[in-house]
Formats: sequence, structure tokens, C-alpha cells
Amino acid sequence: MQTKKDFPYEIDENSYHRFEQKYNVLYRRLWDKSLPTYGKIFELNIDNHINSGEDGYSQIDFALVAAGWTVYEKFPFAFSWHREESIDIGYGVDWMKEKYPVRDLKTFTEKTKKAAEFYGASLVGIADVDKRWIYKTGFVRPALTSEADSKERIRKGDASNSILESPINLPEGINKVIVMAIEMDQIAISTAPAQPASAAAAVAYSKMAFAIACLGEFIRNLGYQAIQCGNDTALSIPLAIDAGLGALGRNGLLLTPEYGPRVRICKVFTDMPLIADNLNLIFIKKVENFCKTCYKCADACENDAITKDKDPSFKPVTISNNPSVKKYYVDVEKCFEFWIENSGDCGSCIAACPFSKIKRFSSSSEFWK
Ligand code: SF4
Ligand code: SF4
Repeated sequence: MQTKKDFPYEIDENSYHRFEQKYNVLYRRLWDKSLPTYGKIFELNIDNHINSGEDGYSQIDFALVAAGWTVYEKFPFAFSWHREESIDIGYGVDWMKEKYPVRDLKTFTEKTKKAAEFYGASLVGIADVDKRWIYKTGFVRPALTSEADSKERIRKGDASNSILESPINLPEGINKVIVMAIEMDQIAISTAPAQPASAAAAVAYSKMAFAIACLGEFIRNLGYQAIQCGNDTALSIPLAIDAGLGALGRNGLLLTPEYGPRVRICKVFTDMPLIADNLNLIFIKKVENFCKTCYKCADACENDAITKDKDPSFKPVTISNNPSVKKYYVDVEKCFEFWIENSGDCGSCIAACPFSKIKRFSSSSEFWK
């Protein structure tokens, strides 16, 4: 195997291919009949959980989670690649077509980051676009169709799998990506795998949809292109690492110095002139060493989805992994089996990670106080 040491990644360049998003386990359950979770949704076990009387699984807990997803799932503009020209909110559109003349790149980059934070980002970084992280094919929603509507069309058979297999080609000129991390509530995450932790993820996704929609329009108002993305279009974690936001942990998640893995990631691609951030090399090295002897996430995982191998490897464990990169591979099939059983996200490997800085673990009842 010929690998290229391309710190912070070790990649087998001979076999690396851009990932096809349909292999993401969340989408595989829509088409892959070999999966035990094929066709299954969280609703399956909800009545059993509610009737069990278990703390953190009451109707009020599930109400909190499902409502938390509202903006992400139901807001059709969230993931737009273009302005909706026919809708003028009263500010006109002609002045927005002029490219803002950037005279001081450093100040302009700082103002763009300020805007991202203003719209809700907890952390912001900028990277040059590395095409290896752009999906080869992926889930492209029809214009102005919400996430929920798009998935429902596939489930009902009204849309073919082609919606999942659309070639991903960024428009000409797009060369930067603004990556935003949204912090998830510390107390809610500490209840993992109970439903308040799931609610923390849900509301972070809705905040992502809000932040990318506003930042996308901010960029278009300055005359540049903006591609608003959640988990779609490209792999968020390597982009976030490239943007200096953190490092990859044993749990397969982005670890940030500020919040550990207690974040969700979204991004906006653009052709706007910006200065890219540097990798956080000190933190990457720290995490690399730390994960070799810390197994807290693996110990916390109820389905043994996280490896206890000392060192990272090139051995993927499922077709839902993106192979040819040296890392700790997570068995996301096992992980998702637990999610279905749990009727929601889990988050135990986030709560357990020392970088999440959770000093006290709360029960769900304590969360509600
Ligand atoms: S989310 Fe839960 S099931 Fe999935 S890897 Fe983390 S601890 Fe395991
Ligand atoms: S819990 Fe420990 S091993 Fe797991 S990602 Fe966090 S630091 Fe790494």
C-alpha cells in the first residue's frame, strides 16, 4: 500500500475514492435490505418507551426531541444553493448582484466570521476546498423541498433512489468553505442516551439550518455564491479539521478544544475571497496521543460500536465507513441499531468524552428542573 503522509491524514491515495453518501447508514436504511435497520424509523419503539415509565423516555421528552427538529426538517430554504429570486423581502435585489469590493481581506474575513457567529455558530473556521471530501454522489433535495419532504418521497417510492445518487459538482469558482460548529446543551447531553440528549442534537440541527440559511443569504447579498449544507454535499468532519476547528477522535467525531465532540457541524461553500485558517496541529497531536490510552467512549457504547484497538488503522468495518484513511473506524451499523432501539440519537460517546467537559452527569428529571 502506498500512503501519502498528508498530516493530519494518512491516506492510501491509490485506493481513496470520494464517498458516496448513499452508503451513510442513515440513508442505507432507506434502500439496503441487508441491514437489520432497513426501513425502520424511531417511531417503532416510542410507545413501548413511553409506557415503560423510564426516566427520560416520557411523552414530554419525545415531544421535546421531535419539536427540536422542526426547522431542520421542515424549512425548505435551509439547504438552498441559490437565492429564491422571485421572493423580495422588501430590500430589493439589484444592489445584491454587485460583488462587494474586498479591499482588506483580513478585516473582511473577520467580518464574515462575525456574521457566522451572529447567526448562531459557536465556532467558525475557514478552509480551502479539498475535493477529496466532496461526496461523489449524494442526497440532493429538489429545490425548495424540505429534508422531511425529500425523505418522505423516497420512503413512499414517489422519488427514485436517484435523489440519493445525484452527482455532486460544486459550481465553478467555489474554492472556500466556511465551517460552523454548533454547541449542544451540556446538561441535556449528560443524560445520554436518554431523550434530552437526543433533543440537544435535534435543536442543534435546527440551529444549523438557521445559521447556514442566514449566512448563505449574507454572502449572496454581497454578490457571491453560497452553497448551504448540513450533512449533505461533503464530509463535514475533515472540512472542520481543515478549517482548524479540531481533530478526529476514537469515537469517529470531531473533537474541538472548546466543546470536545459536543457539537454539530454545518458548512457554507463559497467563491467569496477569504483567508483560510491553519490546522490546529497542537490539538490534533494532543487528541492523537490521548485517544490511544483513553477508551471512555468505547466503554460507554452499549453496542460495542467503537473499537478498542490501541492504534488507528486502515481497516473499515462496514461499507458505511469512508475507507483508505487511517483512523479509528466506528461500526455505524451497530450504532444505528441502538438508535432504533433507543428511538432517537444516543450520544453516550459524546457525553463520556473528557473533551466534552461534562463535570456532572444529570438524570433526565434533573434536566427538566
Ligand atoms: S452514539 Fe451511542 S451507540 Fe453510537 S457509537 Fe456513540 S455510544 Fe455507541
Ligand atoms: S472518549 Fe477518549 S478515546 Fe474517546 S474520543 Fe474522547 S478522548 Fe478519544
